[in-house]
Amino acid sequence: MPELPEVEALALDLRGRLDGRALTRVHVAAFSALKTYDPPLSAIEGTLVDDVRRHGKFLDIEASGLHLVLHLARAGWVRWKDEVPALPPRPSTKSPLAVRIVLDENDGVSPGLDVTEAGTKKSLALYLVRDPLDVPGIASLGPDPLTDDFTPQRLAGILADAGRKQLKGVLRHQGTIAGIGNAYSDEILHAARMSPFKPADSLTDDELAVLYAAVRDTLGDAVERSRGLAASELKKEKKSHLAVHGQTGKPCPVCGDIVREVSFADSSLQYCPTCQTGGKPLADRRMSKLLK
Ligand SMILES: [Zn+2]
Repeated sequence: MPELPEVEALALDLRGRLDGRALTRVHVAAFSALKTYDPPLSAIEGTLVDDVRRHGKFLDIEASGLHLVLHLARAGWVRWKDEVPALPPRPSTKSPLAVRIVLDENDGVSPGLDVTEAGTKKSLALYLVRDPLDVPGIASLGPDPLTDDFTPQRLAGILADAGRKQLKGVLRHQGTIAGIGNAYSDEILHAARMSPFKPADSLTDDELAVLYAAVRDTLGDAVERSRGLAASELKKEKKSHLAVHGQTGKPCPVCGDIVREVSFADSSLQYCPTCQTGGKPLADRRMSKLLK
């Protein structure tokens, strides 16, 4: 799933490619993806792109005062195409193509963006709004962890408000902090050497400083590495730098212990027992839940 660093890099890449170009057509191949109807999609057709930005994990293409906003969900991606077909794509439940954005013609060919979503569970979302805050998921976003006003004091306040909630859930809740998902919350907690199940309000001042640094460094380094990469290179780049996320059974790059996995909410999390839980594997609640 694209998280803050990947969406940031996508926005940067697309800003360079789209700036000053006209959006000729927006074709929706997966009708369930389009979440708004006013203004109609045709309102943005023929307008010039002014900017491409990120809000949390949302991508925002701004053109003539309108905002075409994309949330790529778990399995969505954006691909730049040097040439897209002239005919609109045929809606199909088998094709991963969800949305095609066609740009103005250049030397007889129209480049474009293909927004795809893999898998059968479709949760990719497209909005056309006059203000990004008209998108409920953007209006409710917590602070962005890479901005200047995300200070250690701000994080301390967030953790105090979260009470006994587990760190893993607090970090990836978009209304609490924007842009961190399942992968980077695992990576941040590994870097901070903290249990994913540690209660948010139980951190000492030293631990708070460590967690704050882990948030900033993990995300900041990933953004730095992704900067300048094309959309097609980003997924590989992300995967090659993950220490624990998705690395179950492999050695921890810090201590060599075996990376483990437990269920968490609707998916699973990965962690290193030696680095994060005093060498003790966490109990998997999946089984006990089934036995209740
Ligand atoms: Zn380790």
